[in-house]
Amino acid sequence: MSKVLWSPWRHDYIKSFSEGMVRECLFCRLAQLSDDYAYILYRGNKAYVVLNAYPYNSGHLMIAPYRHVASIDELDDEELIEVAKLVRLCINVLKKALKPDGLNIGVNIGRAAGAGVEGHVHVHVVPRWIGDSNFMPITSGYKPLPIALTETYGLLKEEFKGKSFNSISKLKAS
Ligand SMILES: [Zn+2]
Repeated sequence: MSKVLWSPWRHDYIKSFSEGMVRECLFCRLAQLSDDYAYILYRGNKAYVVLNAYPYNSGHLMIAPYRHVASIDELDDEELIEVAKLVRLCINVLKKALKPDGLNIGVNIGRAAGAGVEGHVHVHVVPRWIGDSNFMPITSGYKPLPIALTETYGLLKEEFKGKSFNSISKLKAS
């Protein structure tokens, strides 16, 4: 018997941002919410990792700086380094937890480039599997996406637990 973890009101709340119904910035607001509510997987000093509630693929992660800036060239060195380290951490976690055949990493800057949230820069990390972009390797049989999303969150959260975005290079050095 699985627990009921799916909260439609939470989903609607996040959706209202992406549809432009709320004037507040989605990424600024998410950072202020609790991890479970906002699907936040990891909080660094300058940036955080959140699971996309409207994923292109299962395990679609986004990395955003806490500071509200529109583009990568507006990040200071510390923010830029941390975002890059979090990209590395996300790749590491996704490879371990979801075993994708590949990954897409990208940043959309400006509406013409397809940015869903224009004012606040964020990096997409999307795991990919050969043959089927909708393949969900962690579920057996059909499950509605919302449940898969919550399961994915739980699985990835466990993998992120206790990890430091600095830890990978340290582990390799030891
Ligand atoms: Zn913002």
